[in-house]
Amino acid sequence: MQLVGIMLIVERVTVGPLDTNSYIILDSESREGILIDAGGESSKILSVVRKHGVKITGIYLTHGHFDHVLAVRDLIEELNCKFYVHKQDLEILSQTPLEAKRLLGITIPPPPQPHGWIKEGDVIRVGNLKLRVIHTPGHTPGSVCYVAEGCVFTGDTLFAGSIGRTDLSGGDPEKLISSILNKLFSLPDDYVVYPGHGPSTMIRVEKAMNPFVGEGGLFRRF
Ligand SMILES: [Zn+2]
Ligand SMILES: [Zn+2]
Repeated sequence: MQLVGIMLIVERVTVGPLDTNSYIILDSESREGILIDAGGESSKILSVVRKHGVKITGIYLTHGHFDHVLAVRDLIEELNCKFYVHKQDLEILSQTPLEAKRLLGITIPPPPQPHGWIKEGDVIRVGNLKLRVIHTPGHTPGSVCYVAEGCVFTGDTLFAGSIGRTDLSGGDPEKLISSILNKLFSLPDDYVVYPGHGPSTMIRVEKAMNPFVGEGGLFRRF
């Protein structure tokens, strides 16, 4: 658990076949919260939700890949909440059973239909907190990041020391680099980065050291 702002609590739960991070974000005063991604093992996510006594108002995906969506069906039922994704990832979302079969040889049920869409500039209210949606295409056409006071949830767009792959359907390396350089790297240096896989990092660290997009990185030499 990390206390990021005065009221913002972030819990990371690593779940599913690809060790995907699901984040529970809550307002410590109102005990309202949301989930960012739900990549499997719904009971593990639920136990953290219950530990905090938090009322989850929605599940927000960073993008539609199967490893971020596997537990959504169970959780929207258990938590009686809605779930949202960027409209440009609807096709990728509908292909999750095919992709899971192709990449890991596992059979998964189709995801439920989203209750609504999120887009650039949307503001999500979580109790007294606000998260802003930024559209960061590249890993997928509908990839988004969620910006809170002091931190950003980057899905598979930016990792500690790496960037998202662009060889899957809908991936676009130029867009990915542009999303990171123009949108994520314009956030304050001291913002904590919570990626979809692996440990957290900071904007400052990735700007300086990321081997792809950092100073002198592979994609900064042109
Ligand atoms: Zn992905
Ligand atoms: Zn992923």
